[in-house]
Amino acid sequence: MKLLIIIIFYFTSLLFGQNQNYTILISFDGFRWDYSLRGITPTIDSIKTNGVHAVSLRPVFPSKTFPNHTSIITGMYCDSHGIISNGFADTSGNWNSLSNISKTNNTDWYKGEALWETLKKNNINTACYFWPASDMNNPERRPDKYELYEHKRPYEQRIEGIINLLKLPYNERPKFLTLYFDATDTYGHNFGPNSDEINYSIKRLDSLINNLFNGFVNINLQDSVNVIIVSDHGMTEISPDKYINIGHILKGFDCIIQDYGPFMTINSADNNIDDIYTRLKENENHFKVYTKDNIPGYFHYSNDKNIYPLILSAELGWSLITDKNLKWLNTTKGNHGYNNNYIDMHGTFIAAGPDFKKGYKTGTIWNIDIYPLLCKLYGIAPNKNIDGKLERIEFILK
Ligand code: AMP
Ligand code: ZN
Ligand code: ZN
Repeated sequence: MKLLIIIIFYFTSLLFGQNQNYTILISFDGFRWDYSLRGITPTIDSIKTNGVHAVSLRPVFPSKTFPNHTSIITGMYCDSHGIISNGFADTSGNWNSLSNISKTNNTDWYKGEALWETLKKNNINTACYFWPASDMNNPERRPDKYELYEHKRPYEQRIEGIINLLKLPYNERPKFLTLYFDATDTYGHNFGPNSDEINYSIKRLDSLINNLFNGFVNINLQDSVNVIIVSDHGMTEISPDKYINIGHILKGFDCIIQDYGPFMTINSADNNIDDIYTRLKENENHFKVYTKDNIPGYFHYSNDKNIYPLILSAELGWSLITDKNLKWLNTTKGNHGYNNNYIDMHGTFIAAGPDFKKGYKTGTIWNIDIYPLLCKLYGIAPNKNIDGKLERIEFILK
């Protein structure tokens, strides 16, 4: 009789998609591909030994936080998922700041389907302990459980939150979870990627992950949790002498300028985009200027209607500014947002658990391929319109 009940339970759970292992996707913001090669990350080293790691994780362009977290969770390039920068104006001129999405009802700019939406359609429980857009003000598009983003929430509390979610009664317990830490991004901007301070933040994240693994052992789930550590982008040193003052180059033009630093987009306030382009082209030094028609295809940055007509991408380590940004330039030591092919912009991909190969090292992985990989882990069909490809990544699974 007991055996029969177990068999019935097994097949019912298969039917409702609840038989999979748990998977937790952890983002270390700005954790460059080489940070785990500095000999200061014993926990990450042991995860590598027990799992899979890639030489690097290639972000999408622009190599910024919100576009890349959205690409990881949707499997799409920016001009497919619509999150074209950390903040941007739409065609009606309304400003969309992605860092306060929980305060706005306008979630229309999220054109992709986040993994938690795909899982929800398949009756699989999800929970985010922070992930861009997981706390959006539209309950239908959120994971089953979420936390409103709070930058200063103590890191230990976040780990405890994940363990508590995994302690929930089985039918409420999430099968997919996310977790997020900003430390390596914050320290990278403030002190640079080669500083003692960044090494301190790397060590801190490493020891937190050790605590998380100890937590799995305490609740006896250590053999059924897949852990995937990713980062949205890398980081490079910048310098106050390496700048291009676009405000000076475009003196006399009436422009609308979005973003600064590694990447900038420009619109004309008086329908004069061709002359603005010509002026920038004549002064194209330490940066490239593109129109939506001639931007190289590998950027995948032309189809979205909210992208401004001119796209500027600075040479690595250089900053595109206007006079307004001079103070920022003098106080920032590291940045990201450059061409995603620069290796300094590449992040980290490390995964271990029951579904991953053991002691397996692979070359560069593309972050848009993570969404189809996760769908495969849960045995569900991905959203149809993605750019990611399962065949570029699935060999890392057992
Ligand atoms: P960036 O400007 O590209 O360096 O963005 C990094 C910043 O994004 C972090 O310092 C966080 O404050 C912010 N951030 C990360 N995740 C979220 C989120 N879920 N909601 C709001 N802000 C976030
Ligand atoms: Zn980031
Ligand atoms: Zn950053």
